[in-house]
Amino acid sequence: MLELLTDRFSKALERLRNTRKLTEKQLNDILRDIRMALLEADVDYDVVKTFLKRIRERALTEDLKNNLSPAESVLLTVYEELVKILGETKEDLKKGTVLFVGLQGTGKTTTVGKLAYYLKGKGFKVALTSTDVRRPAAILQLQRLAERVEVPYYSAEGEEDPVKIAQIAVKRAKDEGVDYLLLDTAGRLHIDEELMEELRRIKETVNPSEILYVADAMQGQEALRAAKTFHETVGLTGVVLTKMDGDARGGVALSVREALGVPIKFMGVGEKLEDIEPFYPDRVAQRILG
Ligand code: GDP
Repeated sequence: MLELLTDRFSKALERLRNTRKLTEKQLNDILRDIRMALLEADVDYDVVKTFLKRIRERALTEDLKNNLSPAESVLLTVYEELVKILGETKEDLKKGTVLFVGLQGTGKTTTVGKLAYYLKGKGFKVALTSTDVRRPAAILQLQRLAERVEVPYYSAEGEEDPVKIAQIAVKRAKDEGVDYLLLDTAGRLHIDEELMEELRRIKETVNPSEILYVADAMQGQEALRAAKTFHETVGLTGVVLTKMDGDARGGVALSVREALGVPIKFMGVGEKLEDIEPFYPDRVAQRILG
C-alpha cells in the first residue's frame, strides 16, 4: 500500500541518520525530498504546501523531545502531520439511506456490496437498490451481490425514473425497519450535468443520512477534481477509497480530507466482499513511514 511514498520518505529521512543536531540545510534538503515525494505521488499542490509549512515550523520551533535524535524527532513530526492530513477515524455511518456516488469503474458497486456485508456482519438490517437505469448490467451486478450477502435487493419493476426508484425503495426500507438502505447511483465515465441534476433530485427526495463518494485510489488529481464537483453538487459526508491494495501512489488518499474537508470513512483493499476496512489514519501513516 502506497509503496512509492514509503520508499521516498525513507530515503528522505535516511539523510538524518547519525546526525546529532539538525542544521537548517539538512532540514531544507529533507523538506525538498518530501515535497518531491508528495508531488510525485500526485498529492494536491496546496496540500503539499500546507504539509511542508507545518513540518518546517515544528522542526524549527519545537525542541527535541524526550531525548529523541534529530532523525526520530523529524520522523515523529512527519508521522503526526501525516495523520492530520489523512483525517480522523470516522467509520460510523448514520442510519438511514446511504447514497453512493462517483464515476464508473471506480469500484462503486463492489463497495456497496462490501459495505452491505460489513454492516450485516455488525448485526444491522441492510437492503440494497440501484438507480442506474441506463446500465442494466450494473443493476444485475448489485442484485448478484445482494444474493451473495443475503440481503434484500429492492427492485421497482418497470420503473424508469431513478428518483421514483429511490422513493419506492426508501418507503419499503422504512416499512421493513431496515437500518441501512444502501443506494447505488448511476455511474458515468465523466461528470455530466444530467447526472448531477439526477443526484440533486434524488438527494432532495430521499433526504439521505450519508452521501459517500467512492474514489479510486489509483487515480490522482482527476479523482480529486471529480470529488470536488460531486461535493459542490450534493454535499458529501464521506469518502470511500478503493483499490488501496494496489500500487496507488497516494495522491487522493493524502489530498481529499484536506482539500474537501470530508473524512475518508472506509477503504477497499481487494476484490472480495470482506476486503473493506474502516480508514484508520494512524495505521495508514505508519504504513507509509514503514
Ligand atoms: P463501478 O463501475 O464503479 O461500479 O465499479 P465496479 O464495482 O464494477 O468495480 C470495478 C472493478 O474494480 C472491478 O473489477 C472490481 O472488482 C474492482 N475493485 C473494486 N474495489 C476494489 C478494491 O478495493 N481493490 C481491488 N483490487 N479491486 C477493486
